[in-house]
Amino acid sequence: MKKFILAIDQGTTSSRAILFDHQGKYTYSAQREVQCIYPNEGWVEEDPIELWVSVVDVVNEVLIKAGATWDDVDSIGITNQRETTIVWDKKTGKPIYNAIVWQSRQSLEICEKLMDKKPFIHAKTGLLINPYFSASKIRWILDNVGGAQEKANRGELLFGTVDTWLIYKMTNGKTFATDSTNASRTMLYNIFDLKWDDELLKLFNIPKSMLPEVKYSIDDYGISSYFSDKVHIYGVAGDQQASLFGHTCFEPGESKNTYGTGCFMLMNIGDKPILSSKGLLTTIAWSSPKGVKYAFEGSVFIGGSAIQWLRDGLKIIKDAPDSEVVASKCEDSGGVYLVPAFVGLGTPYWDDEVRGSVFGITRATTKYQLVRATLEGIAFQVKDVFDVMKQESNIKIKSLQVDGGATANSILMQFQSDICRIEIKKPEVVETTALGVAFLAGLKSGYFKNVDEVYEAHKYQAHYKPKMLARVASDKCRGWSKAVAAARTFRND
Ligand code: ADP
Repeated sequence: MKKFILAIDQGTTSSRAILFDHQGKYTYSAQREVQCIYPNEGWVEEDPIELWVSVVDVVNEVLIKAGATWDDVDSIGITNQRETTIVWDKKTGKPIYNAIVWQSRQSLEICEKLMDKKPFIHAKTGLLINPYFSASKIRWILDNVGGAQEKANRGELLFGTVDTWLIYKMTNGKTFATDSTNASRTMLYNIFDLKWDDELLKLFNIPKSMLPEVKYSIDDYGISSYFSDKVHIYGVAGDQQASLFGHTCFEPGESKNTYGTGCFMLMNIGDKPILSSKGLLTTIAWSSPKGVKYAFEGSVFIGGSAIQWLRDGLKIIKDAPDSEVVASKCEDSGGVYLVPAFVGLGTPYWDDEVRGSVFGITRATTKYQLVRATLEGIAFQVKDVFDVMKQESNIKIKSLQVDGGATANSILMQFQSDICRIEIKKPEVVETTALGVAFLAGLKSGYFKNVDEVYEAHKYQAHYKPKMLARVASDKCRGWSKAVAAARTFRND
């Protein structure tokens, strides 16, 4: 048996390579920052070559750190920032434009023109019209790079999300493929028929010849010949889906929330897609020859970044962990509600115009309570997503598993459990995204025999159970609903 599975995690701000062992334990890792480029207000781009070089670097580094050779590596899993769009020349393998990053708003106008197609697009893709998703970004490149549309029409250009780009490079151009989780974020993939959708391709005027083959998340993506002539890429998934798998949320109703800069909650909804009327996205959770699993996804724009604001804007905490120390100096928020809608509100409100607000301040309010109210504001937003997931799926949510930087805050975690009335579980391996694709690859290669073994590899470091009286929790939630409603009536024109 080989020693390790190599997981590559290409994220928005960094690339990482991690070696996992048979127990699903994180052993060695290497990381490189990657630069974002901001050519205009609201535009976010990256250099695809830099992304590739950073991956080569971290892969080499992690093997050197482990004192390992490719003979020690069983297989490779890749997870990636989703939706980020790269178009390259088939002949030269060179990108014709920067990678347009998921956050970038440069294709907003293209999206606005399609607003009347919202139900049509939602019914096929499970997505809401937004510049996040790849289709409008491809359209933008074809519109803005000289001669690109003609070249695309002649079949000379290829499109890929970051997984596809890396697989193409790692296989020396032999494999041009994506997995279905990444495909489901392009806005060109029909999540019901499980194929590229001709009507959507026509709507965006994108030739099919640009698109990669769609494979299962557990599949053979070929030999990574750039690195070794033996090791296969066997697992691929977008970052949030990989995290859901890494959390072993294999059953309907199992869900995970990532508390990073923003928060992303995904819930397994089983083998049939359900469309939401309350702003949840429907997405492919993972796929294998055995079938496809779907997930609901909800996002909170401001999570841990509210803590950064306390530190850098208000300067009332010295660093992120200090938020817990300061908040612990008061028993509760004293009726203060902070709605951290700094850039609007995500699921289920999708309100771009609303701005942050604080309610319930009195002469007696302390900075401790303000900090606590900020932590609670993160948790209340997550609860809003949690509630629509329950309502729209009709599935009882069994547990909520968590990861991300702000899970270090036990006041936040306890409050989340109190208001959601559910057990919150934090795994030992916090790199659940990378672990997810290590599991996917290992299931294909036989490194892990079956999902039971994967369960076995999964351990928890902390559990939080509701402690607050249910009546008190529900009063607090009512207060939050009033605060959000009030915040949404205010417009700073
Ligand atoms: P990302 O992947 O989005 O960069 P991370 O998972 O690294 O995010 O988490 C970083 C975020 O977590 C930051 O916004 C930071 O403010 C927040 N954070 C980190 N530690 C704590 C803490 N102890 N309490 C509250 N928030 C925290």
